[in-house]
Amino acid sequence: MVHTALTVTTGQLESKLIEIRHHLHQEPEISNEEFETTKKLRDWLGDLDISILDLPLKTGLVAEVSGDPKGPVVAIRGDIDALPIHEETTLPYKSRFDGKMHACGHDFHTTAVLGAAYVLKQKEHELKGTVRIIFQPAEETGPGAIDILNTHALDDVQAIFGLHNMPSLELGQLGTRIGAMSSNCDRFEIMVEGVGTHAAHPDLGVDPILVAGHILVALQSIVSRNIDWQDSAVVSICQLHSGNTWNVIPSMAQLEGTVRSLDLDIRETIKGKIKQVVEGIASAFGAKATFIWHGGSPAVMNDEKWTLFTIEKAKEVGFEVIDIKPPSSGEDFSHYQEKIPGTFVHIGTSTPYSLHHPKFEIDDRALMPSVKLLATLAEQALVDIIS
Ligand SMILES: [Zn+2]
Ligand SMILES: [Zn+2]
Repeated sequence: MVHTALTVTTGQLESKLIEIRHHLHQEPEISNEEFETTKKLRDWLGDLDISILDLPLKTGLVAEVSGDPKGPVVAIRGDIDALPIHEETTLPYKSRFDGKMHACGHDFHTTAVLGAAYVLKQKEHELKGTVRIIFQPAEETGPGAIDILNTHALDDVQAIFGLHNMPSLELGQLGTRIGAMSSNCDRFEIMVEGVGTHAAHPDLGVDPILVAGHILVALQSIVSRNIDWQDSAVVSICQLHSGNTWNVIPSMAQLEGTVRSLDLDIRETIKGKIKQVVEGIASAFGAKATFIWHGGSPAVMNDEKWTLFTIEKAKEVGFEVIDIKPPSSGEDFSHYQEKIPGTFVHIGTSTPYSLHHPKFEIDDRALMPSVKLLATLAEQALVDIIS
């Protein structure tokens, strides 16, 4: 669809990209099922003569534009998956697939990265190194970023850049910060095993509900008594199940909850304390307890150097840069940053509904500035690395 785009003007490129964005929006595919989206990307990149790396990925892909193969390597990343949400907009290009919707705007990210690939291809011979262009599957559910990293296609990448649209920021604004740009988002389960007995004879058993109650209360002391007051974290128990009648003390109780934190050390401290509290209380009451930790994506952690670099370039391409508070949402861009220094930004779209809302929309006017930003970041990061 970008055919003959190698000679198009900025205005023509914008209309072509908007057409592509609407097309992607109409045919959303959920995490790990982005087969047609990947096929379309292969075609569009093929039309532009952009090479695609031969990688063992089921969906998603990594492309490459290179000016100097001996130069440094940087990467830009867009995610391509949609959500299992029934779209409730009245857009002429609303989802044609019932129960599937690009409600997080990953169609916008995909198109912005594709547009940047086009711009970089146009100036390929001027590039001081190589730009890897990531179209990542399965951001919403994981493990898209890990699947990309496991291909080793990014082993030589020295800096990485990513973006997310943000309805709460105004059009023309870019939000970012050094440090945490999302939260560590973890889930845990606790199983308390007591000894069931008659309700009239608790002395003959071990009551798991009583133990679960003590655990529930004690867990709320972890943040207030173990974490520095200037740091932040949340421990929430969101499910508590036990028993099925009024006159039997059951043998099991189950709790489930989440921990949100910004710092990896704090995350580890809380994880350790929960285990200690759970096992200690269970043992004190003569019960047994199992603690299962389901580690989610760590917090996006913006590298200082590349964030300052990004702020400077964003201003140059016309964004108003806003210093934002760390968002509480999860984002698996953090997995790249565990290996590669990089930065993540929010692009303002000034639209009324939040991410993941069935009436969520994007303002297409945010597209070309995002294309320009990604292309500039990649091109100039190569210059910065060699200088
Ligand atoms: Zn999302
Ligand atoms: Zn998203």
